[in-house]
Amino acid sequence: MPERHVDYLLIGGGLASASAAERLRELEPDASITIVGRESDPPYHRPPCSKSFLAGKEGREATYVQQPEWYAQQGIELLTRTSVSALDAAAKCASLSTREQIRFGKALLAPGANVRRLPVAGDDLDGIHYLRTLGNSEAIRAELEQAERVVMIGGSYIGCEVAATLSSLGKRCAIVMLEQVPFERTFGARVGAHFAQLLADHGVELHRAEQLSGFLGEGRVQAVQTASGKEIAAELVVIGAGAVPEARLARSAGLALGRSGGVRCSCKLETSAPGIYAAGDICEYDSKLHGAAMRIEHWDVAHNQGLVAAENMVGRACDYEVVPYFFSDLADWASLEYVGPAREWDEELTRGQMASGAFSHWYLKEGRVAGALALGRSEDIDVARALLADGRQLDPEQRALLGDEDADLSVLTRAD
Ligand SMILES: Cc1cc2nc3c(=O)[nH]c(=O)nc-3n(C[C@H](O)[C@H](O)[C@H](O)COP(=O)(O)OP(=O)(O)OC[C@H]3O[C@@H](n4cnc5c(N)ncnc54)[C@H](O)[C@@H]3O)c2cc1C
Repeated sequence: MPERHVDYLLIGGGLASASAAERLRELEPDASITIVGRESDPPYHRPPCSKSFLAGKEGREATYVQQPEWYAQQGIELLTRTSVSALDAAAKCASLSTREQIRFGKALLAPGANVRRLPVAGDDLDGIHYLRTLGNSEAIRAELEQAERVVMIGGSYIGCEVAATLSSLGKRCAIVMLEQVPFERTFGARVGAHFAQLLADHGVELHRAEQLSGFLGEGRVQAVQTASGKEIAAELVVIGAGAVPEARLARSAGLALGRSGGVRCSCKLETSAPGIYAAGDICEYDSKLHGAAMRIEHWDVAHNQGLVAAENMVGRACDYEVVPYFFSDLADWASLEYVGPAREWDEELTRGQMASGAFSHWYLKEGRVAGALALGRSEDIDVARALLADGRQLDPEQRALLGDEDADLSVLTRAD
């Protein structure tokens, strides 16, 4: 088998690898860097797959993290349509689907995640889609002409975003979800009720506390069946039931895995194999901020972990301490921002009127900010970020400010 050596091997062709490559190049102008990705596109941003790209408002190239020629200009080798099929962590050697073997100095494991599949009766009918890639998004778009009624399975961000995007294109959309309200698991019932109202106001039908039991149709899907016996007409179905880390390579290489199924990493994003780091959706890292092992599937986390992993790959000793940030757009109806994630809370405060569409909602645990969500109040997210990083316990007077629309929150973050 042909064999060669690179200084830095980045496994996975997504945002985490692209961000790491960029930082590695800045830090080490002469190092050899190779990215191996199994998709045919160069690394791209996934958020447009459920928003602007799905809506046909932007093309493929607009989603690319860097345009294809950038990699050659930077002297970064980009292997697309290529998988790493085996990893020998001790020998620092990767086997590729091209039958090539690459020895490396340091490696980044960033293979992301795969959709969580729901095996139910009728799931092989045409018109049933999952959504992770540009190709998935394109396939959904290609079927829109023959579909009037679209049913989303799952009331989290993929289901809600796709419902909003397709409603805006004039489709009749419904969401089938286990929860009572959308986003309930992440943002709780109060904020979830706000989004339920927003979706309903735009004509999205919500089927609450319903479990998918199967699909009906002949050749092509015609209806979604729920465990309670409902049959919901559908010519197109999009399933957004979460993601599972792509840990096959790590498992076969003997790397330690965590409770989330991701690859266990230190706060420096190093795996159990010295010299092999992880970033993005695969990475379950020791978070000093949360005092727990965390695996977070956010765009911002994949980007920042790629940067920090690169710093550590060149020998700096940086802890990953960025406060995780998430954004989501429901068509042009609402843009939400969130920092946290709050794992549990015992107090919620709302600043501004939810009904006005501009508010922030604060999650506290024992007087400490554990998370915050904002619509149209980005400045509150900045305050929340500082308070999360600080971890300070707020007294009742300070907490009252978080619920006061007119208060100046900068007093909470100002150094005494
Ligand atoms: C539809 C959608 C919408 C989203 N919207 C938002 C949003 O609005 N806001 C937000 O914060 N986050 C959003 N996210 C989440 C965010 O996009 C992800 O957290 C981020 O893409 C993770 O980047 P990554 O590099 O870790 O993994 P990925 O982007 O999954 O990239 C990993 C790549 O590695 C490849 N790969 C896997 N195994 C191998 C192997 N053995 N060899 C070679 N290549 C391999 C995969 O095929 C994949 O292309 C969204 C995700 C999706 C799917």
